[in-house]
Amino acid sequence: MSLTLVKNGILYDPKNGIDGQVSDLWLEDSKVVSAPVDSAKRPVRTIDATGLVVMPGGIDMHCHIAGPKVNTARKMIPEDKRAAPDIRRTSFSRSGTTGSVPSTFSTGYLYAGMGYTTAFDAAIPPISARHAHEELQDTPILDKGFYLLMGNNHYLMKQIAKGEIERAKTYVSWLLNAAKGYAVKLVNPGGVEVWKTTGGNIFGLDETVEHFDVTPRSIVRNLASIVGELKLPHPVHIHCNNLGIPGNADSTLETMKALEGSRGHLTHIQFHSYGGDPDRQSTFYSRVLELAEYVNTHRNITVDVGQVMFGETVSMTGDGPLGYFLHKVTGRKWFSGDTEMESGCGIVPITYRNKSMVHSLQWAIGLEWYLLMNDPWRIAMTTDHPNGASFLAYPEIIALLMDRSRRADMLGTLPDRLKQKCQLPELDREYSLYEIAIITRAAPARILGLPNKGHLAIGADADVTIYEPQNDIQTMFELPKYVIQGGKIVVEDSELRSSHIGKLLHTSPSYDEQNIDDIKTWFEEHYTIQFRNYPVDDHFLDRHEIVG
Ligand SMILES: [Zn+2]
Repeated sequence: MSLTLVKNGILYDPKNGIDGQVSDLWLEDSKVVSAPVDSAKRPVRTIDATGLVVMPGGIDMHCHIAGPKVNTARKMIPEDKRAAPDIRRTSFSRSGTTGSVPSTFSTGYLYAGMGYTTAFDAAIPPISARHAHEELQDTPILDKGFYLLMGNNHYLMKQIAKGEIERAKTYVSWLLNAAKGYAVKLVNPGGVEVWKTTGGNIFGLDETVEHFDVTPRSIVRNLASIVGELKLPHPVHIHCNNLGIPGNADSTLETMKALEGSRGHLTHIQFHSYGGDPDRQSTFYSRVLELAEYVNTHRNITVDVGQVMFGETVSMTGDGPLGYFLHKVTGRKWFSGDTEMESGCGIVPITYRNKSMVHSLQWAIGLEWYLLMNDPWRIAMTTDHPNGASFLAYPEIIALLMDRSRRADMLGTLPDRLKQKCQLPELDREYSLYEIAIITRAAPARILGLPNKGHLAIGADADVTIYEPQNDIQTMFELPKYVIQGGKIVVEDSELRSSHIGKLLHTSPSYDEQNIDDIKTWFEEHYTIQFRNYPVDDHFLDRHEIVG
């Protein structure tokens, strides 16, 4: 038994109402424990946290760090890899490349070095689950999992069209079990299928998906309700139709309504909050005010932001037609993928410029979401890594939220007309450390349904980040002094000191084996992808936790 004492730290643990109180924290093996009653029981290790800020480990609830499109993006950007510093091998760690899309090893080290201890890849086609698991097994330190793409799944769309909702429910359960996924993800529901068959897309929530007789609205409504009935820990995770298109706030609002009161999580909401004419980029403006008002008054909805920051990155998305759109507007190289019968993908390198009106507005719109959501428990910090920016931008975003003069300085470098197109210049809210702890830890844990994460009460996972308060907030959050993951001290004096493989987090909803047989027959009759190619081998379960 290894007992660790974090002594005298200034604790921020919003789930337990702790707002900067000085307290000791005891850890034993991989859990937070109570102080030993037996005074003879001495900690093996004592960290003096006097004057230091102690928070639960950070949780990234939406990023792209594994699977086929991440791997393809790595291959597409040798110029980015060449320019970025490599991570050197040490006695306990492997070498790796960095840049917009770091290698698996680097991803784990960089997250941990920044105080993050849990991350979820947001878009894995079920047929590629084995590949994603292999990569996650090579992504050190983090506890992690992934969401399975189901918004353009042929079998599910056919069952929804026929009203065979029980059968759809069985299939969702089976798929999560077979692929060891964590949640149900919808990407441009219906639109990716239309792109794959005709090169088109879907724009309205009530447009019919050709050959399938479903609409985005029926896909959203039914899957939100199925996920609710299965009591999955995380609600349906939705990337709405029309990402990035001026005027898309209309379809975003309709998607929220399509939930019909079921819980739903709308991801990278920044990319879906635009006013204007779809055919004229110059008409682009922010509609966060009305969307945030809707979310503020509908407690079934949660969001993460997908903040854009200026610089080089790579966009990668399960939204095939969006990849093509970005290729057309940027002129950059483009990859398009088609995963037979269940999803697609698009990859395009992108440079966000502060001289561009569109990019400046995207930056402002992300910040508006943080500043206009009344309840920080229903919004999580994300950059949709690497789409809006690298996850390494989180400390800078935190600094922008905590310091309005820093926002004003940045606004001064952006196009003047921005002021007429958004509310950001008038917003003077500043986040407190307590609220930062909510949107980076406690809220994502709650939204994900992770009972042992995002807090520091007895029984919580021993994932702890210890920061040294500094005048520069960004530096404080970039270089935590200590990071503990699963009870192991991985960062000490701001340097990586050890590495291990964290847990896989997945769900395991029950289903009736008998009902699987007719699903299996259907697959054999309709598709070349064999049903048996889905199940992931048990060797992926060395270290895992079933949640829910
Ligand atoms: Zn994403």
